[in-house]
Amino acid sequence: MGKESFPFRLGAFSCMVVNDGSSPYPDPAQIFFANAPKELLGKALRDHNLDLTEWKEYVSPYPSLLINTGRHMVLVDTGEGDLEPTTGKLIPNLRAEGTAPGEIDTVILTHAHPDHIGGNIDREGKPAFPNARYVMCKDEWDFWISKPDLAALDIGEGDKEFIIKCARDHLLPIQEQLDLVDHETEIVPGIRAVEARGHTPGHMAIAITSDREQLLCISDAAIHQIHLEQPDWYTSYDLAPEQTVATRRRLLDRAATEKALVHAFHFPFPGLGHVTRKGDGWQWQPVR
Ligand SMILES: [Zn+2]
Repeated sequence: MGKESFPFRLGAFSCMVVNDGSSPYPDPAQIFFANAPKELLGKALRDHNLDLTEWKEYVSPYPSLLINTGRHMVLVDTGEGDLEPTTGKLIPNLRAEGTAPGEIDTVILTHAHPDHIGGNIDREGKPAFPNARYVMCKDEWDFWISKPDLAALDIGEGDKEFIIKCARDHLLPIQEQLDLVDHETEIVPGIRAVEARGHTPGHMAIAITSDREQLLCISDAAIHQIHLEQPDWYTSYDLAPEQTVATRRRLLDRAATEKALVHAFHFPFPGLGHVTRKGDGWQWQPVR
């Protein structure tokens, strides 16, 4: 077994983190910590053996979460698919672990950014998971399907157009299999949507519970582990920064209090760990 999949158990559920590939983010200090005071940022980076001027790139994995509850085969997010040459490995990696796309009955989309929905469709533009109910937050769908306003984002116009086009291209074809939910809905027994707005208008976290064990999938509520230590630092991709910070604090507080296992999408693969309180923030304790 390579580093493209990471199986684990959660109570009675069999789970696996399965990678779709990875992608380099240029200028990560600026993109990830858009509002950080330079001096404090320099110190926070040094604590992680990173240098403010020399840190040119962060290579992020794009992992999906596969959960076999015994009754349901659930996939959380679909990676970036064919949008980049280094991604699109989700289905081959699922097959290598013995799961065919047709066996997935529920696909949960945490939000509609390209790295989370790029694998929704196959090369012919048809749903890549033909037998699945695709579940997402109604607010998220409404935002991207109407005329999305990304003016608040401090990113290039080309990037904004790319994100908007990707959302339409990867959401419209799944319409017939779509199930729009409100936040705090039970999606299948043991798996609940958790309100996590801010990064996008309908960004959702997922709480997975079996036999009193809990996994909290926070998706993009934190992109880098420094966001745990400095929870008020937001990224250039957070549409509502203050809401992002409030959401992050609420999720991390819950994870620490309930001693939940956490999955953070953009953290080093497999992105699983626990959070403990430290000062005004938290600290990441990866499982490996
Ligand atoms: Zn993301």
